[in-house]
Amino acid sequence: MGATPVRWVMTGKGEPFVCMPIDTLSPGPDEVLIEIAGCGVCRTDLSFYYDDVPTRHGLPLTLGHEISGHVIEAGDNALWWVDRAVVVPALIPCGHCDPCRRGLAAICPNRKMPGNDIHGGFATHIVVPAHGLCEVDEARLAATGIGLADLAVIADAATASFHAVVETGVGEGDLVVVNGVGGVGGYAAQIAGTFGATVVGIDINADKLAVIEKRCALTLNACGKTPAELKEAIAAFAEQRGLPQNGWIILECSGSRAGRDAAYQLVTQRAIVAVVGCSMDRVEIRDPNLMHFRARAVENAGCPPELYPQALELVLNGRIKVTEFIEKHWLDEINEVFTAAHAGALKRRGVLIPPNDGTAP
Ligand SMILES: [Zn+2]
Ligand SMILES: [Zn+2]
Repeated sequence: MGATPVRWVMTGKGEPFVCMPIDTLSPGPDEVLIEIAGCGVCRTDLSFYYDDVPTRHGLPLTLGHEISGHVIEAGDNALWWVDRAVVVPALIPCGHCDPCRRGLAAICPNRKMPGNDIHGGFATHIVVPAHGLCEVDEARLAATGIGLADLAVIADAATASFHAVVETGVGEGDLVVVNGVGGVGGYAAQIAGTFGATVVGIDINADKLAVIEKRCALTLNACGKTPAELKEAIAAFAEQRGLPQNGWIILECSGSRAGRDAAYQLVTQRAIVAVVGCSMDRVEIRDPNLMHFRARAVENAGCPPELYPQALELVLNGRIKVTEFIEKHWLDEINEVFTAAHAGALKRRGVLIPPNDGTAP
């Protein structure tokens, strides 16, 4: 084992995270012990830390649910995993209840979310159920030049986007509007493109638009524009490209109330709005927009573990990029990184690196 096992614990809303030794590291029969390579900082973590959103497990608790790492020990029923590199699903379903058997892992009543139900990934080590782990072929990974820590975002940001693209049935010839092209929407835009869609990216941040520009057929800066003006611009683009004026698939990835409001106002006839990720904000939806337009809205909680290998494959075969959407920091900078993320001062999604293998972020 590399570093002395520690976890950074949240003791109260906005209280500085405290570094504490991990005393028990023994996996149960169906569990594994993982030496963490990296753990992404998600907006959900910020909601637990700064807002009214409670964690299901009481405090003190370690946050973090975007985890990649190496299995270094396993219980008797999970020995196959020892020495393998893995991505841990953000929502780990039990795999045997009624919703799980019907492919509805997101509503498994026994699901475990690291950093919410159990101690999370802002730590050197974590014990998690082996069910649903996604194996990473390290030889292939090495050939790509991508680090295992970079794959932490597959645990949630990239797979939540992947799930939304699958759920909304994105395919060849579709017009997909990604609202918010940062740490989540950047993947949504790329993934929708790999499914054959023409992608329009919207953001209020010119830097984020510049990063995703190559992967979108059109980017729109929403600053100073009303949703009606954005919709008009997309309609004109669709007409020019011979794309449909209805049936748009709108992936709302901004996570902000204003962004959500805007997303619902972009609805066309037969549109599908998928909300990727979760927010406690209330939004207003005008009934006629959904009813008369025969449009649909779907919420997209997490991603079933069985889809993870397909999302990982898109990274390994180079069809979607992860490294340009993240910035890595040492785990012991967690307080500074949370402050910066909350202030909107991180340029990309933060990934915290524990000092396990001595590789600098
Ligand atoms: Zn998340
Ligand atoms: Zn279940």
